[in-house]
Amino acid sequence: MLKKVLIANRGEIALRVVRACKELGVASVAVYSDADAHAPHVREADEAVRIGPPPSSESYLLGNEIIAVAKRVGADAIHPGYGFLSERDWFARAVREAGLVWIGPPAEAIAAVGSKTAARTLAVAHGVPVVPGTTEALRDASEASAIAKKYGFPVLLKAAAGGGGKGMRVVRAESEIAGALDAARREAKNAFGDDAVYVEKYIEGPRHVEIQVLGDSHGTMISLGERECSVQRRHQKMIEEAPSPAVSPELREKMGAAAVRFARAAGYTNAGTCEFLLARDGSFYFLEMNTRVQVEHPVTELVTGVDIVQWQIRVSSGEKLTIPPRIVPRGWAIECRITSEDAENGFLPSTGRISYLHVPGGPGVRWDAGVEAGSEVGLFYDPMLAKLIVWGATRAQAVERMHRALLELMIDGIETSREFHLRVMEDAEFRAGAIDIQWLERRLPSLLGAAPTDAEVRAAAIAAALIADAERAGRGASAAASGAGNDNAREDSPWAKVARAEGLRVL
Ligand code: ADP
Repeated sequence: MLKKVLIANRGEIALRVVRACKELGVASVAVYSDADAHAPHVREADEAVRIGPPPSSESYLLGNEIIAVAKRVGADAIHPGYGFLSERDWFARAVREAGLVWIGPPAEAIAAVGSKTAARTLAVAHGVPVVPGTTEALRDASEASAIAKKYGFPVLLKAAAGGGGKGMRVVRAESEIAGALDAARREAKNAFGDDAVYVEKYIEGPRHVEIQVLGDSHGTMISLGERECSVQRRHQKMIEEAPSPAVSPELREKMGAAAVRFARAAGYTNAGTCEFLLARDGSFYFLEMNTRVQVEHPVTELVTGVDIVQWQIRVSSGEKLTIPPRIVPRGWAIECRITSEDAENGFLPSTGRISYLHVPGGPGVRWDAGVEAGSEVGLFYDPMLAKLIVWGATRAQAVERMHRALLELMIDGIETSREFHLRVMEDAEFRAGAIDIQWLERRLPSLLGAAPTDAEVRAAAIAAALIADAERAGRGASAAASGAGNDNAREDSPWAKVARAEGLRVL
């Protein structure tokens, strides 16, 4: 077994890896930028080393420095988490060449599937269906027009090096092609340093369904089933669940087999995810493979009982996978990404100090967070603060439980996506599982303009009582709201928190 793992990441995923290490009896080493000196992942790791100032280009992206730190502290492996250096094949190779274990797939496998066009070519060669389209970079707008006419509008222009929804443009008519191609290329060049863009048929109303695979270095590769990630805004996932309401056991078997076939063809080991579009008619198309642990891995953990991050470490140590090849999901799990974004204001990023945090608890609730009360939230990194994950025996129970857990959650000091998630859990279409990748964009206006819920009405009543109380005491409403003065209305009194968190905004 590995003895000491350095974690080249931050936030909730760094803490997730620290926890896996502790449970396996493996020492953990955190690295951090100045912005994260007091972060939970730094405190919880057995050792922590500063690597630089806040910008990730001067800290979390400094691969060679991170490898040097690992050597210096005597770590025998590096876990990259997701984002940052996790899908850079040069980094995986450099780790290996430094005599360290890379907790991820071989550098060659990352390179083989790193470009969307290369992955599409590999998929086609191994009988894995892909969205109709091209595999070559477009030369110019007239070539794009000719291809679009062949497949029929709408089409999607996509960056070969793409990720995070960047460098993608839907084109619905010929007149839009030149502008969209320019924009996609510019965005791709800025984000990935590579402006290669190709064409796919734009599929209307599909679901995003992905398969988690896990493989060891002894030739075993298995599927852990699917996750439904259709609740997306601007091609970014907001809510994920496992299993998918649209996947039957037969379809699970078929998609799992395709994902395993693709992973084997790529020479894959460790944890990875094959993303597919599932069309309304039940046909599915391979999109890409993510060669790392995913943000949404916990929903799979909750319905399979498999600790994916522990297995990443175990297979990297040379252990054999001992998980049965055909796992039937048990119950239902849902994850909400809690971000520092103000949904009511166009998801504007919010910054500041988390002055108060109450974490939900009770049956079936899991909280994976990179922040705590007192944390400063800035603009240097991704706005995801935490993941709230619940398990229920049925989808309906999981939805109710998520709603209840979101009501318990209180975060003061910054705006978050909490209320957005509450609205989704209350939405009849979401509750019926009638979602696709365009659902959220369609639904957002009515979701955010929704009438106050029972819980809000209750909280508003509490707040009104509080204010009336304060007024009787001669202090005025603003004193009650800001919590100045007497004991009951103090900033940290539970009444003030409820009023602030839920009620006052409604008033
Ligand atoms: P990225 O790597 O940037 O995340 P993906 O290829 O994974 O890009 O696509 C991101 C999202 O964009 C998908 O989850 C899906 O919602 C949407 N999408 C991608 N390709 C298509 C397509 N051909 N038709 C319709 N929607 C698509």
